[in-house]
Amino acid sequence: MSSAIISALSTSPGHWINGHLHTGGSGLLALRSPVDGSPLGQLPLADAAVVDAAVASAAEAFAKWSRVPVKDRVQVLYKFKEVATRRLPELAACVSRENGKTEEEAAAGVLRGLEVVEFACGLPGLIGGEIMEVSTGVDCYTRRYPLGVVAGITPFNFPAMVPLWMFPMAIGCGNSFILKPSEQTPASPLIIAAWLREAGLPDGVFNIVQGGRSTVESLLDHPGIAAAAFVGSTTAAKAVFLRGTIAGKRMLTLGGAKNHVVILPDADPALVAKNLTASATGCAGQRCMAASVALGVGNCDAIIEAIAAEMRTIRAGYDMGAIISPAARDRILGYIDSAAASGAELLVDGRHPELPAAKQGGNYVGATLIDRLLPGSAPVKEEIFGPVLSILRVGSLDEALHIENASEYGNAASIYTGSGAAARYFEQHASAGMIGINIGVPVPRDPFGFGGWNASKFGTGDITGRDAVGFWTQTKKTTVKWSAPAAGNWMS
Ligand code: NAD
Repeated sequence: MSSAIISALSTSPGHWINGHLHTGGSGLLALRSPVDGSPLGQLPLADAAVVDAAVASAAEAFAKWSRVPVKDRVQVLYKFKEVATRRLPELAACVSRENGKTEEEAAAGVLRGLEVVEFACGLPGLIGGEIMEVSTGVDCYTRRYPLGVVAGITPFNFPAMVPLWMFPMAIGCGNSFILKPSEQTPASPLIIAAWLREAGLPDGVFNIVQGGRSTVESLLDHPGIAAAAFVGSTTAAKAVFLRGTIAGKRMLTLGGAKNHVVILPDADPALVAKNLTASATGCAGQRCMAASVALGVGNCDAIIEAIAAEMRTIRAGYDMGAIISPAARDRILGYIDSAAASGAELLVDGRHPELPAAKQGGNYVGATLIDRLLPGSAPVKEEIFGPVLSILRVGSLDEALHIENASEYGNAASIYTGSGAAARYFEQHASAGMIGINIGVPVPRDPFGFGGWNASKFGTGDITGRDAVGFWTQTKKTTVKWSAPAAGNWMS
């Protein structure tokens, strides 16, 4: 696949059905780069007819793909990983242009996604069943089967990585896959589609339909789709989970986050300052694993001053990327305004960043640190999804845990301390699916699974790791009894 074709895919995005680009549907969405506001083409929005075509192509491909032995299926994934690793800068450039994050962040996200490809290459060692003699002369064994045509619906903030959480395991398990990327970042997955084809994936096994909510609803209502995974905001995750479940599909939907970080007075100030700044401002805070609320226990003044000093070194438009849209930027600014109006202390105010001349037309908010907020205030309770870290002062670890436990979300929670006992207590009592101890972005790596608790996830199991094998397959249990031949009849 030449660079010219990759460039065409990333500037004229469309659907990807049966191995080819399609532009049908109803309506067009004008796209702009968050980096500088430059136009990025028009996105065709899939209607029910486009979704039908994608499902038909996927169903036809499934009939053959599901019969390919797993050891042969994963050969495509090995080749895909080789192509994607070699051509990483092209995909990173596309992610950066359409999402606004820096190229370094974009490349890091793709590499993290490729770890799932590596894990999926090990499916021959993961997908096998069990066998046991359950009664004299009677064996029971299990075999895992793919589900059929399955779908993945993904958010804007990791245009390549989140699809990579889903499709390698789904197709490695023998399913055909339809991706519905965010309508704000539709091009990066097309590059992935082209590379899968180059790696030898049969046409129709991986498809893309572009669009927004109504496209998602067409997928969820389609009787030809057996299961769907979703990653996005909690409101959408809940609605998608319910609609898909009512339609009889297997569903797993990951939602939003509000991650709390507890700082004990014995924490290493330099480590906390570096980690929390990176966690809160990486990808301009548009990460479901971003540190959002810091709970300073006791006298943490020196540590908080160190965080403020580190945050002041981050420059929007230089070392920190853009916010996805003008509306998202304005929403973030609204939270900072409301905190300032409520009497909280703006230790670092990112409302008026100084931008490079070439990026004046982009959407930027500078790193922001707000101290002495009150529990229950909007910046503390709600997901801001921007480079804003809110600080609450508390008297004890239990008080910090009480605030963390009261959050509607439960994606991640971290603690910074030199005390093993305090860290262990925190791990046992925090209400979150992913815990960090002296780590700001505690993303579990395969074979461990990614998934939160509470309103950060609807459904059972995690989206990556070993649980993914269970999600993308169904198990058949077979019981066998062969009567032993009568004595003396053998060979007679
Ligand atoms: P979003 O919910 O607006 O969109 C996500 C996807 O759902 C998109 O493909 C969109 O087209 C579709 N969609 C939007 N509203 C819908 C609806 N009502 N019904 C059906 N489909 C709908 O999310 P976003 O703004 O693209 O992404 C940011 C959100 O994603 C944040 O809340 C972030 O925390 C969350 N996120 C969570 C994780 C996680 O692992 N828990 C990972 C990344 C992002």
